[in-house]
Amino acid sequence: MNNVYTDTHAHLTYSEDAQLLSRLHALYADSSAVIIDPGVDFDDFDERYERLGSYPWVRFAAGIWPDEFPLHNQNEVINSLEATLKHPACKLVGECGLDYYWMKAEPQVQQKLFIAQLDLACFYQKPIIVHSRDAWQDTMNCLKPFIGKIPIIFHCFSYGRDELKKLIHNGIYVSFSGNITYKRMKQVLEEIPHIPEDLLLLETDTPYQNPEPNRGKPSTPFDIVRTYEAVSSITQKPHAFWQDRVTKTLKAILHEV
Ligand SMILES: [Zn+2]
Repeated sequence: MNNVYTDTHAHLTYSEDAQLLSRLHALYADSSAVIIDPGVDFDDFDERYERLGSYPWVRFAAGIWPDEFPLHNQNEVINSLEATLKHPACKLVGECGLDYYWMKAEPQVQQKLFIAQLDLACFYQKPIIVHSRDAWQDTMNCLKPFIGKIPIIFHCFSYGRDELKKLIHNGIYVSFSGNITYKRMKQVLEEIPHIPEDLLLLETDTPYQNPEPNRGKPSTPFDIVRTYEAVSSITQKPHAFWQDRVTKTLKAILHEV
């Protein structure tokens, strides 16, 4: 495995590095590690599939971020997403969820779009990738009826220790990004040794959330090594353990093992 790491959330087509995909392919082609490329728009799947579909280490998700257009054209975008979910390469729903930081208005409209995607995930029995910012309680209220029915991945976890415990208690997978290396996440990082190993996932959220010391610069999946390092050191378990564990957890979610 060496320096190849599963990354459970990377927007691979957002990178400005023209060589990124071939550099990743040189490493990932012969490894068991995989990278999830999540969707954010109801119509972004075809373009992503065209650019990434030939790489056997990419796993696709399709979902709709709570943006202006989809919020106000929900029937159209949900129908389109449903058609995409029938594509055999589309393994997960997401990212989708609630964002009261960027999109302050209309929480109910956001919740409706989120719940429609949870319904689709449930109907097609696909795991779902959840985005949640400044919207903890409403996110949990939306998720509640779906807990135990489909695997739920809470991506780029950015809340506190109590919220983390609540997710774990409900069997929700928690994906940590490079933000786990930031000072304000220290308490959450310290909680990691106490959570079940098979509920933990790691991501870059490429091109965002670059782990320290490169916070603020655009990230790529190559930066994930420092997030694995942070988890390795707090749990006192070697890199290789987490490389293997995170890959196995994700593949179990995807029914690949
Ligand atoms: Zn994302």
